[in-house]
Amino acid sequence: MSSLKGRVAFVTGSTSGIGLGIARALAASGADVALNGFGDPAEIEGIRTALAREHGVRVLFHGADMSRPAEIADAIDFVRSELGSLDVLVNNAGIQHTARVEDFPSEMWHAILAINLSSAFFTSQRALPGMRARGWGRIVNVASVHGLVASPMKSAYVAAKHGLIGLTKVIALETAGTGITANAICPGWVLTPLVDKQIDALAAEKSISREEAIATILAAKQPSQRFVSARELGDLAVFLCSEAARSLTGASVPVDGGWTAQ
Ligand code: NAD
Repeated sequence: MSSLKGRVAFVTGSTSGIGLGIARALAASGADVALNGFGDPAEIEGIRTALAREHGVRVLFHGADMSRPAEIADAIDFVRSELGSLDVLVNNAGIQHTARVEDFPSEMWHAILAINLSSAFFTSQRALPGMRARGWGRIVNVASVHGLVASPMKSAYVAAKHGLIGLTKVIALETAGTGITANAICPGWVLTPLVDKQIDALAAEKSISREEAIATILAAKQPSQRFVSARELGDLAVFLCSEAARSLTGASVPVDGGWTAQ
């Protein structure tokens, strides 16, 4: 499949988990890809070279901290100057912290809002002029079921993801008819390092095994009783970037095994 040949994609938070799955799917579809995120430099370089080799596309890395607008601007400018344009922007970087509102550390509130929400505003603000000039662009925001419904202990995350869906709608309206679309993907549970921490915390809190903790979190929310895969989310992102999806804008697409149908 080479539907995105000639396009350039920037995926924030793509050194791991869902972002890496989406970067992989975009590269498999022929897009040149710029990776971003934290991690061991040697491992990141391994990911970068493997993606380029396997898919015959250009793959770069920029380590911008998505909580810092100046670094975001630098990353977008780097992608444009090194790869020639920025056609597909995937706002995926995200972190989680769980605590009751009364106990929620203010620095975690600010960090979650900055990384999970404000970064998407700053990347979009910097990327949109080039997309408008070329009359084509795709913004894919990785929100969450928590952009549509709430769970306890996740005040900052739920607020940020609801905000991200609002931002997606505004960008869709402001770009309607220009060849640019903006949509949000709303995954349920996906087994990534972000969720691993929550599984381990539940296992420790309830003195149960990791397997029992996994069964518990799936039984509580996700009727399919299985994790969504990063691969499935990558395939959806590729579809949202396709010409078949050119009228699909401002939407929030749940990929949650039935979570939000309840
Ligand atoms: P993950 O921890 O595997 O990946 C997060 C990525 O973001 C990593 O590459 C990390 O280095 C990067 N990152 C973190 N802070 C950053 C910063 N300040 N600047 C730049 N990069 C940063 O987690 P994941 O589960 O793959 O999460 C990816 C996105 O998917 C997040 O926005 C998350 O909210 C969302 N999501 C995850 C799930 C799930 O069940 N895992 C469900 C719904 C939505």
